[in-house]
Amino acid sequence: MAEYGAHITITARDKPSIFDVVAQDGLMSTLQPAVNHIMRVLAENNPERYGLLLRFSDEIFVLFNTIIQHHYIKNYGASFAENFYDLKRVELKNKNSNKPLTLSHQAYYKSMFTLVTFPYLRNRLDQLFQQIQERHADNALSEESWKCRIQRLFLKMWPVLHFSWEFLTFVYYVRYAVGKSRFHSPLLPLSGVQLATLDHSDYEVIDARTEMMLAFRNVRSGWELGRWAVECVGSSLMNSLEVGAFFLQFLDWFYSSGNTPTSFNAQPIPPPPQSVDIQKVCGLNNTDCPICFNIRKYDTVLSVSGYVFCYGCILPYVRREGKCPVTGYPASTTQLIRIYHET
Ligand SMILES: [Zn+2]
Repeated sequence: MAEYGAHITITARDKPSIFDVVAQDGLMSTLQPAVNHIMRVLAENNPERYGLLLRFSDEIFVLFNTIIQHHYIKNYGASFAENFYDLKRVELKNKNSNKPLTLSHQAYYKSMFTLVTFPYLRNRLDQLFQQIQERHADNALSEESWKCRIQRLFLKMWPVLHFSWEFLTFVYYVRYAVGKSRFHSPLLPLSGVQLATLDHSDYEVIDARTEMMLAFRNVRSGWELGRWAVECVGSSLMNSLEVGAFFLQFLDWFYSSGNTPTSFNAQPIPPPPQSVDIQKVCGLNNTDCPICFNIRKYDTVLSVSGYVFCYGCILPYVRREGKCPVTGYPASTTQLIRIYHET
């Protein structure tokens, strides 16, 4: 039993360095922007077909995140990013301790919650806060209905909650760095686990599991053949994701280092306007709005397409539809620019 129990006690040698845990947190936070970036490129190239991808990008990422985190927790006892940096999750209460790199059901569900559901909910609440803030700026929350009151309360509470969480995370980092705590993040005690570096016997377990999963000789029925095929495709996908993780971190550094040429980031330059444009086709003058067909009030340009609308027409449209009404390009309210000119 002693060899099975060896992984339970975490010595100072097994404790991951602050650099490892910070790096794996960094990799985790690059994953969603990377997936969003791919969807944005697809949607901008073909708004008709892939425009929906961008609208449901959060939900698509949750699905993607659930699949990869499930795969890594089930097979390696760690999240994708933790496994990438050779870390494992060790349960604080070891009820199921005779199986290395295997979490109990309870720890599995808690880990999935903190890795997938928690970031998703936080992201959604952040977006909700921005939407309510925009409505507040438009004076749409001045009514005394209970709905507006709740929204005003949320507007006050969310920044406090957000700051408290960030501060708590910072305290955990500092305590971990000076060796006062076993956890670098408040999410770990919530999941009932702590992190440790993989040791020699863990690598053997991982190798044996990978071999078991991909060995064709174990296939005895049609069902097992199907499972084997899925494992093969999944494993090669996961391997390419691991190679991709290096690339992701390079891209992240490239974008954040401030030396990105603007042309790399910018939208493709649209072709010159044709002589027959939408405004002429619809019988509109240069001063008319393509939404209400009247003379524009408070000229506002949508920067993704360059079309000019009334402020009162385009703002609710972009908020509701998330695209340009003329070209269908994906758009957000941050891309609206008021034009001040003398007429
Ligand atoms: Zn209008």
